[in-house]
Amino acid sequence: MRLILLAPPGAGKGTQAELIEQKFRIAHISTGDLLREAVKKGTVPGLKAKKYMDKGELVPDEVVIDIIRDEIKDLYDFILDGFPRTLEQAKILDKILEEEEKRLDTVIEIQVPDERLVKRSVGRLSCKCGEVYHEIYNPPAAEGICDRCGEKLYKREDDNAETMYSRIKTYKMKTLPLIKYYFTKGILKTVNGDQDIERVYWKIEKILNRIKKD
Ligand code: ADP
Ligand code: ADP
Ligand code: ZN
Repeated sequence: MRLILLAPPGAGKGTQAELIEQKFRIAHISTGDLLREAVKKGTVPGLKAKKYMDKGELVPDEVVIDIIRDEIKDLYDFILDGFPRTLEQAKILDKILEEEEKRLDTVIEIQVPDERLVKRSVGRLSCKCGEVYHEIYNPPAAEGICDRCGEKLYKREDDNAETMYSRIKTYKMKTLPLIKYYFTKGILKTVNGDQDIERVYWKIEKILNRIKKD
């Protein structure tokens, strides 16, 4: 299955993608994680990306597209988390998939009210293995330590209220048009993300099971 998780920052894309990855054995590709890795390593794309990420703006399309092209070229199926985020990226993804004779199965939109997004992001605890926790809503068993891999959890530099307002604004301006784009293609599914993690996952699982059967 090939799917996209489309949602504003802090809505639960990473959380749900990890659950889908475990259950359905589909690779989870997060452009945010890939960009943060590139920043940490100090690669050329990483150096270019950092200043945009710090401000809560989008990294230029060509930087992200190069990264994603590399990631998906050898994969049969995948979950895209945080990509595409602009119409340009969506169109280029279509082209890449067409060249490889692959098609998207579904785009899942997770809807969460703005005020919740800020609370989720500000309390987020991240792990380098891809797992995400929340200080209140989803705490790890041992404080500050990842349940899955035992590494120390960290707070992302952009997870503060100020940057979040800018990220939400960017989402509305640049990414929201994709909802219509995928709706028109007939592959958009919308899930209410304003409920607990298990319930959101349950809804997504139902959608994916239906696709698997077809
Ligand atoms: P995104 O990848 O969309 O930015 P994350 O999956 O990283 O979102 O989730 C953001 C924060 O909100 C994390 O701290 C996560 O534990 C928490 N979270 C995710 N989904 C829910 C939910 N349904 N209810 C409460 N908190 C959630
Ligand atoms: P969130 O959890 O807020 O959805 P991500 O980890 O997906 O955040 O992304 C963090 C930052 O990385 C974004 O604010 C943006 O600067 C950059 N980024 C991630 N994905 C993309 C993309 N597809 N296009 C442009 N910039 C991106
Ligand atoms: Zn971990």
